[in-house]
Amino acid sequence: MRRQGDPFDIPVFHYTELLGLAMGITPKELGLNMHRIKADTFLKDWSQRSSQMELIEEYFDLASLKRCHVCRACENDCPSALNVPKFEPQAIIGRVLEGKLEELLKLPEIWNCVECHTCVELCPQRFGMEKVFTILKRLAVEQNMAPETMKNMIDTFSATSRLGKPQATLSKRLKLPQAKPSGMQEWRELLERFKA
Ligand code: SF4
Ligand code: SF4
Repeated sequence: MRRQGDPFDIPVFHYTELLGLAMGITPKELGLNMHRIKADTFLKDWSQRSSQMELIEEYFDLASLKRCHVCRACENDCPSALNVPKFEPQAIIGRVLEGKLEELLKLPEIWNCVECHTCVELCPQRFGMEKVFTILKRLAVEQNMAPETMKNMIDTFSATSRLGKPQATLSKRLKLPQAKPSGMQEWRELLERFKA
């Protein structure tokens, strides 16, 4: 294979070496640098994956996440998943477990969870897929990775406490009463009082 130019670096491991890695022993301590077939590519992936998982553990309860991914009991009750075929909550949870956090934060589908609490109410484990999406969305906003439309909505909500600006001409045409003040000022004053 090498003579024909194929990359050929399939490393061979003893089971105990893999066990050692999983227990947190460093490749050097395990003597993996002495392998005849270099394990560098595998070790690079391993270390990348380990740091991704450390990051995941910082934000998520891994044990609950794994239980939820195996359970899948409420997936067919999620109104968003039923109406938006591209939104597959458990596929997203699977990707969280694979450590693909950065890629997920850019995914528009995470915003399809409307936080309706259905999964929370149905969950016998008192978990709820919603928790995962709330964290993903929060991180996406914090890291400036939310879709433009969402950013605009968040900005409009922060400024006016509405998700959109009432359109006076349209309201007039539809003979709707003038929109009431949003109560934003009172809300801000309340927040200030809580902070004090
Ligand atoms: S909270 Fe989100 S994930 Fe849970 S059922 Fe509602 S839309 Fe689906
Ligand atoms: S949220 Fe609860 S009921 Fe739904 S899949 Fe996860 S563990 Fe199962």
